[in-house]
Amino acid sequence: MRRKIAILGATGSIGKSTLDLVERNPDRFEVAAVTAATNAEALAAIARRTRATLAVIADESRLGQLKELLAGSGCRAEAGDAALIAASAEAELVIAAIVGCAGLRPVMAAVDAGKTVALANKEALVTAGELMTRAADASGATILPVDSEHNAIFQCLAGARIEQVSRIILTASGGPFRTAAAETIAAATPAQAVAHPNWSMGAKISVDSATLMNKGLELIEARYLFRLPSQRIDVLIHPQSVVHSLVEFVDGSVLAQLGAADMRIPIAFALAWPDRIETPAQRLDLAAIARLDFEQPDLGRFPALRLAREALEAGGAAPIVLNAANEVAVAGFLAGRLAFPDIAGLVGDALEQADPPAPHSIEEVLEIDRATRSRVEALMKETCH
Ligand code: NAD
Ligand code: MG
Repeated sequence: MRRKIAILGATGSIGKSTLDLVERNPDRFEVAAVTAATNAEALAAIARRTRATLAVIADESRLGQLKELLAGSGCRAEAGDAALIAASAEAELVIAAIVGCAGLRPVMAAVDAGKTVALANKEALVTAGELMTRAADASGATILPVDSEHNAIFQCLAGARIEQVSRIILTASGGPFRTAAAETIAAATPAQAVAHPNWSMGAKISVDSATLMNKGLELIEARYLFRLPSQRIDVLIHPQSVVHSLVEFVDGSVLAQLGAADMRIPIAFALAWPDRIETPAQRLDLAAIARLDFEQPDLGRFPALRLAREALEAGGAAPIVLNAANEVAVAGFLAGRLAFPDIAGLVGDALEQADPPAPHSIEEVLEIDRATRSRVEALMKETCH
């Protein structure tokens, strides 16, 4: 029996890696649905290639174009938020690879429906971790982490009870500015910021890796995935990106997962779990790598990581404010409207200015997200150079 899968965010970096694995394993997977934000051509090409039965484009103005491109293919074309949320209905396994808070409702729908969710969209868990884990408990949904660090931890835990764990250690490459002086970082351009030394990823997460906000979001993601308090989640800079994260147990044993810096490894794990499938990822040659380095993160040059830790510890709505402010600021930086240090600056201002009450529903999460975005847009107009 082939597993029916839905790929939310099929045109992105994680989407493409997923498709590569799915197409290498036609006997295992059947593509029920694929989605994208605005690129109808790319989406239609993927839908035709994979013989998907449903293609959903978020941008409703592209529906006509998508329908034309899919004419005669047997694949249904739909558009808009409601269609995006319903896209995973026919699938057993949902690859959540939309970027940003835009993925929250589609992910929640899959969790509420009790699906197995391979989660790359960390922002969904950052903004609604409490609500999502509660919904998964209620529906019996399984959330499998695709983010390489969390996937590594999931593998190291291998079903261990969380009381047996003393702490988890998230590794971080340190990004393109790991060794750069503060003045150099202050003058960083979008092209420099997205040029990640080890991983090839979408633009937003690449900027997040350069500010270390990505590791901050991952701290919050880990808090909810593994149900550990902030004090038991550490961050360690490891420039080679060979050790993808570690788990320290109460007896002092430390387990780590290692591998090439290729997202197809964690994606394959989530696709096949509890089985494993082959991937074309390069094999690790430790003798050639020769050395592995580790260092403490520098919160002075990378204040975003400190802000994320503070938001996690403050709890309530702080992670939603952190995430929304960061999404707006990163978009502003990529559009040339902000300097690199303004990203963390704006996030810090947003956290200081507002402390909304903890949300009780996804609607309330989205309301806090919207309110923060418009506040940060206004702040950005003042900050603009
Ligand atoms: P990307 O920008 O390459 O792709 C994003 C996908 O989401 C695209 O298919 C796009 O069409 C879709 N999308 C964007 N905005 C949307 C909207 N408003 N509504 C509907 N669809 C929308 O991003 P990516 O690098 O593939 O990252 C996807 C997610 O996975 C992010 O949350 C990221 O943090 C996480 N992640 C990525 C990597 C990686 O290696 N790329 C690693 C770990 C985690
Ligand atoms: Mg990661």
